[in-house]
Amino acid sequence: MTGPTTGHTAIAVHGGAGTLDPSVLAPEQEAAYRAALGTAVQRGHAVLAQGGGALDAVEVAVRVLEDTPLFNAGRGSVFNAQGKHEMDAAVMQGKDLRAGAVAGVQNVKNPVSLARLVMEKSNHVLLSGHGAFEFAHLHKQPLEDDAYFFDQFRHDQWQEVRGSEQVRLDHSMGEKKFGTVGAVALDRHGNLAAATSTGGMTNKRWGRIGDSPVIGAGTYANNETCAISCTGNGEAFLRAAAAHDVHALMAYKGLTLEEAVRIVVHEKLPPLDGEGGLIAVDRHGRLVLDFNCTGMYRGWAATDGAVHTAIFREGGRP
Ligand code: ASP
Repeated sequence: MTGPTTGHTAIAVHGGAGTLDPSVLAPEQEAAYRAALGTAVQRGHAVLAQGGGALDAVEVAVRVLEDTPLFNAGRGSVFNAQGKHEMDAAVMQGKDLRAGAVAGVQNVKNPVSLARLVMEKSNHVLLSGHGAFEFAHLHKQPLEDDAYFFDQFRHDQWQEVRGSEQVRLDHSMGEKKFGTVGAVALDRHGNLAAATSTGGMTNKRWGRIGDSPVIGAGTYANNETCAISCTGNGEAFLRAAAAHDVHALMAYKGLTLEEAVRIVVHEKLPPLDGEGGLIAVDRHGRLVLDFNCTGMYRGWAATDGAVHTAIFREGGRP
């Protein structure tokens, strides 16, 4: 890709947010999470450093997180009430507001790439269920059988609530494996992009669609303002139109990214039981990674490429 080579770049990723307890997270687990987040940031940053686009960077980063069973997306997706894995994903690019998403897809190895194909190869924004699966087949997307998505820890999580009406956020159920994944990026050409991918919530009713694939709820990007990827209790993020609200506060009220994120995460979401957080980057490359619970798995790098990761409210938070 050609273009100016002097612009700033920035990338951030998340691996879910929730009620995390530092005392329960073993050092080797923490190291594994940080390593996966760091690899995702590095791979995304490498795309940006070579002059690549923000959309390529967020897709690459999210694929890294989908391919590890550590996170509730792709391979590590939670079980729904029927013992199946139904995944949601979305991508959006800020330069022309094009977006693509899939909801309730099964057996697709990398839902984020399928979401991108919906954007690039169909006339639609959001495909669901069997139609999305057929579209994956049409475009020769790698598929995996159910065994690939099986994870004993997540199966045990499901057994705890199986047969009940309880629906649980992956990250509020224990201290081993957490959350939805996402990435936001600014490339050298001034383009912003966002991507989010999830298995949703444990024991969710089949057919339930969360915020992640809904443009404006869990995912949004607009070159005039920012790119956003959310994680948390999806129903609340849907009702709050959370991602679009951050954009709107900047676009219509002239707020900074920090102010806009603070209002959505700390004022708007909590009354709706909206536990969680979001990652955001603005058109100047400023990163804000904020949450209203005890932790959010996250990583980021600015133009210099130095990779940072954090889980709790430790220092070094942008
Ligand atoms: N937002 C996701 C959903 O509700 C869950 C998560 O962030 O872990 O589907």
